[in-house]
Amino acid sequence: NFVSAVVAPGEIGVKFDDIGALEHVKKALNELVILPMRRPELFTRGNLLRPCKGILLFGPPGTGKTLLAKALATEAGANFISITGSTLTSKWFGDAEKLTKALFSFASKLAPVIIFVDEVDSLLGARGGAFEHEATRRMRNEFMAAWDGLRSKDSQRILILGATNRPFDLDDAVIRRLPRRIYVNLPDAENRLKILKIFLTPENLETGFEFEKLAKETEGYSGSDLKNLCIAAAYRPVQELLQEENKDSVANASPDLRPLSLDDFI
Ligand code: ATP
Repeated sequence: NFVSAVVAPGEIGVKFDDIGALEHVKKALNELVILPMRRPELFTRGNLLRPCKGILLFGPPGTGKTLLAKALATEAGANFISITGSTLTSKWFGDAEKLTKALFSFASKLAPVIIFVDEVDSLLGARGGAFEHEATRRMRNEFMAAWDGLRSKDSQRILILGATNRPFDLDDAVIRRLPRRIYVNLPDAENRLKILKIFLTPENLETGFEFEKLAKETEGYSGSDLKNLCIAAAYRPVQELLQEENKDSVANASPDLRPLSLDDFI
C-alpha cells in the first residue's frame, strides 16, 4: 500500500477534454507518450524516434498536473499507478530495496503503464548532504537503479511521470532521467475562460452570464482556485433557500434553486 492508486484506463474517468486550457501540454504529451504507447511500431525503426522514459511536469500548485497525468493514462490506454514522494520516504524507511523492486515488477506486469510520482522532489530531491536521512538516500538510489534497469523493450510501455511545484529542489541525477520537462503554467484570462466554461456550463446560470468578466477578474487563480470559487458560488443559492425555509419553517418539497449570477462569485 505504498501505492496510492492503481487504475485501469477505462476507469480513470478523466479525459483531455475535461481539462480546460493547457493545449501546449496536451500536444506535447500526445507526441511524447500517447503516440508511442498506441503505435509502438512507428517508434522502433530509426534511432531518432525513441520513446521517452521520463517526463517532468512542473509548475505552481493546483494547475492540473495530477489531472493531466490521469487524463494522459486514459488517452494513452495505459494503466495508472500513482505514488507520492513524501509518503514513500516517511512511511517506508528501511524497506527501500524490497519496495522499489516490487513497484517496478508490478509495473512491468501492468504495462502499458504510467507511474505518476507526485511531489517527486521529496522522493528524488537534491541530496541533503550529511543531514540526509540514510533511508531516504537508499530509497532514491534504489529507485534510480530500478528505473535505469527498465529494459528498452519495457521503456516503451512504462513511463515515469514526475510532478513538482519545486523544480529547483531536484538534483542533476533526476533531471537527467526526466529528459522532457513541461511547464504547467497558471492560466491567463483566455484560458481561465475555458476552464470556467468546463465547470459552469452544466450549471443553472442566469441568462447572459458574463463568463468573460469573471475570467478577467480572477487574475492569478489556478484551475484548482477556480474550481473552489465555483463550488462556493454554487452553494450560495442553497444557503439562501435554507435560510428562507428556516423563516417559514415549511420545507419546500421540491425546492427551486435560483440560477447563479456573477454576484455569487464575489
Ligand atoms: P498540486 O501541485 O498542488 O498537486 P496539481 O497541479 O496536481 O496541484 P491538480 O490536483 O491536478 O493540480 O488540480 C486540482 C483540481 O483543480 C483538479 O482536480 C481539477 O478539478 C482542477 N483543475 C486544475 N486545473 C484544471 C484545468 N486546467 N482544467 C480543469 N480543471 C482543473
